[in-house]
Amino acid sequence: MNFAKLQLNDEVKMRLSSAIDSGTLSHAVLLTGGTEKERKELSLLLAQALLCENGEKPCLKCSSCKKIKSGIHPDVTIVSGEAGKLRSIKIDTIRSIRNQAYIVPNEAPFQIFIILEASGMGEEAQNALLKILEEPPATARFILASRSRDDFRQTILSRVTPFAISEDSGQAAGEKENPKASAAAKEILSALATGNEYKIIVSTGALEKDKKTYKATLEKMLLMLRNAVVAKFTDIQTDGDGIENKLSAVFSPKELLNMQTQLKELLTDADKNANDNLLLTRLSIKLMSCIYKQEA
Ligand SMILES: [Zn+2]
Repeated sequence: MNFAKLQLNDEVKMRLSSAIDSGTLSHAVLLTGGTEKERKELSLLLAQALLCENGEKPCLKCSSCKKIKSGIHPDVTIVSGEAGKLRSIKIDTIRSIRNQAYIVPNEAPFQIFIILEASGMGEEAQNALLKILEEPPATARFILASRSRDDFRQTILSRVTPFAISEDSGQAAGEKENPKASAAAKEILSALATGNEYKIIVSTGALEKDKKTYKATLEKMLLMLRNAVVAKFTDIQTDGDGIENKLSAVFSPKELLNMQTQLKELLTDADKNANDNLLLTRLSIKLMSCIYKQEA
């Protein structure tokens, strides 16, 4: 499983990126849900975004981004507990973070402390952390990651801004995938990546007179476009078919986001509009507008 498969919902993605872009991300964030690996990957990506030296954050190319990836950035400290194992993060570890947080950063505007599997903090460790979260030095940022909000005392929760990687990872994993919709979504997006109008029109044909599949297909396309955006910011291969990577190579993040907006409008229309043929026509038109924008 790689980061691009993260089921990061749009609302969370939007909140995170606007907070990063505007420099208003809270001094302490809590990432919950997803898998342990996803939490770690998002934590590092966030740290990269916070310290990135370039405009499109995280660029993954600047020295800061690279150092964080290699685990050698002098202003990024990562500690990790063991999932579900209480007191796997020692109180002394938190105390030393506290002391270090008051030291002036080496090269970045601030220091970042990442506490992975933070549920490993016992009550004493949480109390020690609380003290610094209550009066954080201006040059310190904290990223906590854990399975669930329930792992923390209310006092800690009141000091952090929560972001749920997936609202309910159990439900997402258990959701049945519609194979027809999945195949159609792949076909349409592959056609889109080629920029060939004829292929695009043919690819939407599979959805004729099947409103249920139509909607499921749009939802699957949305997911794949989201993964394609993530693939832009990581060098990780995504889906086995390589469609998401292809989209990511052909379209800019802005174009990919625009497609998502268009698809969401179509989904809203699908609920209101009973005429299936009209829906298909509109889908084709919207898809075309996406490839024309790309050429412009
Ligand atoms: Zn960078």
